[in-house]
Amino acid sequence: MSLRVPPPQSLREALKVPDRYMFGPGPSNVPPRILEAGARPVIGHMHPEIFEIMSDIKSGIQYLFQTQNKMTFAVSGTGHSAMECAIFNTVEPGDSVLTAVNGIWGERAAEMAERIVSLYHLTISQALSKHRPALFFLAHGESSTGVLHPLDGIGQLCHKYNCLFLVDSVASMGGSPLHMDQQEIDILYTGSQKVLNAPPGTAPISFSERACRKISSRKTKPLSFFLDFNWLTNYWGCDDKPTRVYHHTGPVTAFYSLRESLAVLCEEGLEASWERHRTVAEYFHAGLENIGLKLFVKDKQVRLPTVTTIIAPHGYDWKEITSYIMRTHNLEISGGLGPSAGLVLRVGLMGCNSSRTNVDMVLSALTDALQHCHRSKV
Ligand code: PMP
Repeated sequence: MSLRVPPPQSLREALKVPDRYMFGPGPSNVPPRILEAGARPVIGHMHPEIFEIMSDIKSGIQYLFQTQNKMTFAVSGTGHSAMECAIFNTVEPGDSVLTAVNGIWGERAAEMAERIVSLYHLTISQALSKHRPALFFLAHGESSTGVLHPLDGIGQLCHKYNCLFLVDSVASMGGSPLHMDQQEIDILYTGSQKVLNAPPGTAPISFSERACRKISSRKTKPLSFFLDFNWLTNYWGCDDKPTRVYHHTGPVTAFYSLRESLAVLCEEGLEASWERHRTVAEYFHAGLENIGLKLFVKDKQVRLPTVTTIIAPHGYDWKEITSYIMRTHNLEISGGLGPSAGLVLRVGLMGCNSSRTNVDMVLSALTDALQHCHRSKV
């Protein structure tokens, strides 16, 4: 049989990837050390060396999350896969789920849970006592609105009502204080591409003993085979079984990068990283106000230090601003998302990108854009 589809002309050209300042809400820039780790040779995903790397990743995540949980690993996929891993494994038909909606991530969690059960939107304690949900979802860092949700006391409240506490820390982890065990969080996940400065594609996750008990008491199998907790924890060697069974081909080079990114974070230390993100964000926020821009989140206490939302400047088209800055400064900042679409500009300074030099660069790009972009007089 002859081929009907010829090789595409475009693939005869060399791969072109520009170098760019990645100061949007993610992915962030990946420093050479982490890029190089990901370029090491591929070996079998069940070779003992990879199991050792996975074990290092597990310990790195336990440090990052401040947890002793045995059931700690990384999902092969982006933040969304960890979200689904958390929800699909802990919730089954007949359960109810409560989500706090302070931006798009609460809406997304609701959309996922709705595939299995019904949902309620009320204040936390009202809803916990009235609906007795099995799971409560909260985004610690809402990257769509720039809100950092306080966590203290919520885990304890959930446990009073026998509810699991699920926290999304994709946009906040490593950039803002969080203590999984002390704050009684049952399931916590993050992504690789934000503060960790690794490429997108792996998602650290951890389950408390309480969460494991809920999973082992399931009457039905989870919706997804790929995200099945029992399979994944066996593949990651968390379940103490003598043998690990093939589940899927782990993305080994992504594991190398993730391991390296955790090593970088361990070298700096969590507290130093939190402090750096806090002081750089404060410097940035003051600088924005100096050039006449307004922050979307008024209360300083609940501003996310990693992703800043700026009220879209009056009289301008936000898209013109972001494209001007990309074209002229080779720098990505983005517009809003979900409930903040059209209302804000979003700037992410995460991991190695969180520095005063980068703040100055963003401020001068914004100043330049405000001078050169079209401004309506009305
Ligand atoms: N949660 C939050 C708070 C996020 O910011 C993101 C990514 N922007 C996600 C979840 C989803 O992660 P991913 O795009 O890696 O699937």
